Amino acid sequence: MFEYKHIDSAGKGIDLPVGKVVCVGRNYLLHIKELDNEVPNVPLLFIKPSTALSPLINPIVLPVNLGPCHNELEVAVLIKTSLCQASIHQVESAIWGVGLGLDLTLRDVQNTLKKQGHPWERAKAFDYSCPMSQFVSQNEIKKLSNIDFSLSVNNEIRQHGNSQDMLFNILELVVDISHAFTLLPGDIVMTGTPKGVAALLVDDQLTIELSGHFSVSTYVK
Ligand code: ZN
Repeated sequence: MFEYKHIDSAGKGIDLPVGKVVCVGRNYLLHIKELDNEVPNVPLLFIKPSTALSPLINPIVLPVNLGPCHNELEVAVLIKTSLCQASIHQVESAIWGVGLGLDLTLRDVQNTLKKQGHPWERAKAFDYSCPMSQFVSQNEIKKLSNIDFSLSVNNEIRQHGNSQDMLFNILELVVDISHAFTLLPGDIVMTGTPKGVAALLVDDQLTIELSGHFSVSTYVK
């Protein structure tokens, strides 16, 4: 049923296990504003299980009868060595590479959970809630602080982000996460979404681009 594995930019399997996905909420100011949320003092963290992962090239399957499912396109960081209470220096050498993932979110379900003060897993951790691209190795990525990426839906740009606009940058995030709990080889860190979240609909055509590296097309089944 679950056929996800990490792949490199040539489409070859990466020799790392499939693990948890640690996600960061509210890391871009304009996205915080579009959902009328508060700016966090420390990164807001939640986890998707490995069963949430699916290859980005597979058609996206939306949950039924649970309300709108929003796109959240995010820079995804693949971890290659264990990180526990890590320093910036340790984090720099523990990153295998960078890809793009969708943090699919059942927005009405999430809003209800938020109001009740409950965890978000029902809205964000369902099966296939994390379509994931190939990973570009760290030495091919020139600067983690200048990663440009976009999502087009039906040939219109819906999300355009750059890692320079993050409130907490990639290295800071991974350091912070490693002080909250251990990251293992094969874990993925999702670094928050820029503005432009909206409902995906059946038959939508999606193009996801990591500038200078790859463009992947998929659709909603
Ligand atoms: Zn997100």
